[in-house]
Amino acid sequence: MPKAYRSGFVAIVGRPNVGKSTFLNKVLGQKVAIVSSKAQTTRHRIKGIHSEDDAQVVFVDTPGIHKPLHLLGEQLVKTAVDSLSEVDLILFLLDGRTSAGRGDKYVADLLSKVNKPVVFVLNKVDSLKVDPEVLQSYEALGEHVSVHVISALYGKGVQPLLKEIVERMPEGPPFYSEDEVTDQSERDLAGELVREAVLRQTSEEVPHAVAVRVDEFKERDGGKTFIQATIFVERDSQKGILIGEKGSKLKEIGAAARQSIEKALDRSVYLELWVKVLPNWRKQAKSLKQLGYVVD
Ligand code: GDP
Ligand code: MG
Repeated sequence: MPKAYRSGFVAIVGRPNVGKSTFLNKVLGQKVAIVSSKAQTTRHRIKGIHSEDDAQVVFVDTPGIHKPLHLLGEQLVKTAVDSLSEVDLILFLLDGRTSAGRGDKYVADLLSKVNKPVVFVLNKVDSLKVDPEVLQSYEALGEHVSVHVISALYGKGVQPLLKEIVERMPEGPPFYSEDEVTDQSERDLAGELVREAVLRQTSEEVPHAVAVRVDEFKERDGGKTFIQATIFVERDSQKGILIGEKGSKLKEIGAAARQSIEKALDRSVYLELWVKVLPNWRKQAKSLKQLGYVVD
């Protein structure tokens, strides 16, 4: 008897910066979600599709869940919680290097309201040796069907976790064709990679005030892809920081972004970047809509 085909949806949740996007990229073997050491990097729901001979798992990377501080923050939390009602399994990513904290408790309380099986994933345990006291703090955090200790960065412990995930999927046909890895368009990914480059090359003040809109994305003769994008910030001072002396900072950002876009798209790219000030865009539903965030 051939094994029945299994397929389902898995949400990856957890507070900001615990390694959700890193985990997704590792499972998929390629970058679909941007990663940064700064919190609140992922703003949209990104699906990553993992296919095996007799199973398909559709992962949903969510924005980190945290107590909302402004409208964008509220929207991010809502996006994360909404995505939970549609899934077969929830992966709750935690930082296994330290005991459970208030941020984890906040997520755990939200999860307790969603009636879905939850797997606790203690990430960033690069040695795979978890402190018993730390483990205990997580076991007490809320209901769960199992606990895994992994290092998403180094790919340790990921295979056994993936095996359990597949086993927990219901029987059913695939949702996507086997060669699809993400539902994100190349255009959106390019915009995200520009944002990642900005996050990496700026410090404290700028990162959260940044949004990127891709204005043009077209194939040109000679196989080059022409991309023009606008980086939005909230204040003139931030614009100054991003542009740098004689445009040096923007040049660096552009070079880094172009490299990572070329790697992701596997072809050469001509990238043109503009910087614009859109005052208080994070607080205004209208500008959030303009930038493509879901606001309702
Ligand atoms: P997210 O906000 O939950 O999506 O977190 P990211 O995937 O963007 O990762 C946040 C930071 O944690 C990045 O600097 C990652 O390189 C780092 N990170 C993620 N997973 C691991 C891990 O397994 N070990 C270590 N040491 N760092 C990790
Ligand atoms: Mg992320």
